[in-house]
Amino acid sequence: MANSKYEYVKKFEMEDKLPACNWIVVRIDGHKFHRFSDDHDFDKPNDENALNLMNSCAVSMVEQFSDIVFAYGVSDEYSFIWKETSQFYDRRASKILSLSVSYFTSMYVMKWKDFFPHKDLKDPPCFDGRIVLYPRVKIVRDYLSWRQVDCHINNQYNTCFWMLVKSGKSNKDAQERLKGTLAKDKNELLFRQFGINYDKLPDIFKKGSCVYKDTVEETVKPDDGGNPVKRQRRRVIMGHFNIIEDRFWNEHPNILK
Ligand code: ATP
Ligand code: ATP
Ligand code: MG
Ligand code: MG
Ligand code: MG
Ligand code: MG
Repeated sequence: MANSKYEYVKKFEMEDKLPACNWIVVRIDGHKFHRFSDDHDFDKPNDENALNLMNSCAVSMVEQFSDIVFAYGVSDEYSFIWKETSQFYDRRASKILSLSVSYFTSMYVMKWKDFFPHKDLKDPPCFDGRIVLYPRVKIVRDYLSWRQVDCHINNQYNTCFWMLVKSGKSNKDAQERLKGTLAKDKNELLFRQFGINYDKLPDIFKKGSCVYKDTVEETVKPDDGGNPVKRQRRRVIMGHFNIIEDRFWNEHPNILK
């Protein structure tokens, strides 16, 4: 395109290329989802359909952006780990972040009806996003552990809180009852007062959700009736794993490589 005298305005744009040799973590979080979840009558403390919707959007993300190697989600947030060597949009932070947030948000709106067929979307859901860089796999692992510990702590608190509220306590009294309690006190309260064994709650609530790509070998029969052939296929897996312990990572050594 021909240069114009206005062209100089381009020079005001800032470079935002992310440094090489770093894992790129994009974390998105629902904007004011406390309110959004009330407006859409989410089950408390955990609306399973809402979590399934988040997970489905994360699967779409991993399918769409081939440099995302792992994703972890809980509540209204999702973290996407982009591989260390990604050259997506020349590693420009604004491109990576804005595309991630807008793609996720669009999927959330497009898929809403699949997960809430009897609920209209009343307000436009929004997500904020940030990028954090981690130079070593160990720190990426620690990052993920931090999010999963957070999931556990919040879920334990919220499960107690909502059981107390559902049994007739005011929000304030429920908060007061839980003040200063340790993990074992909360487990005890759930068991003694409500007959709930915390360990038996669904993993999706206790552990959050993971999405990653795996290579599977499959045997396909050609249309022409010839001999079956083996081929490698990348497939997206979603599950609720312990990502704090080494076991998952030992079993999947290619994810953070
Ligand atoms: P901010 O805009 O600062 O992120 P927020 O209201 O979204 O504010 P968060 O700390 O992100 O606050 O917490 C998200 C809130 O959304 C939770 O506290 C919970 O009330 C609600 N929420 C999100 N997902 C679910 C779900 N699956 N089931 C029930 N409630 C949910
Ligand atoms: P990138 O992802 O790099 O932005 P792009 O394909 O979106 O790639 P742009 O330079 O943003 O490229 O150009 C947008 C293109 O979208 C236009 O070239 C045109 O083909 C198409 N387009 C956008 N809006 C309209 C419209 N209202 N009517 C017809 N075509 C449109
Ligand atoms: Mg936020
Ligand atoms: Mg939020
Ligand atoms: Mg949140
Ligand atoms: Mg464009």
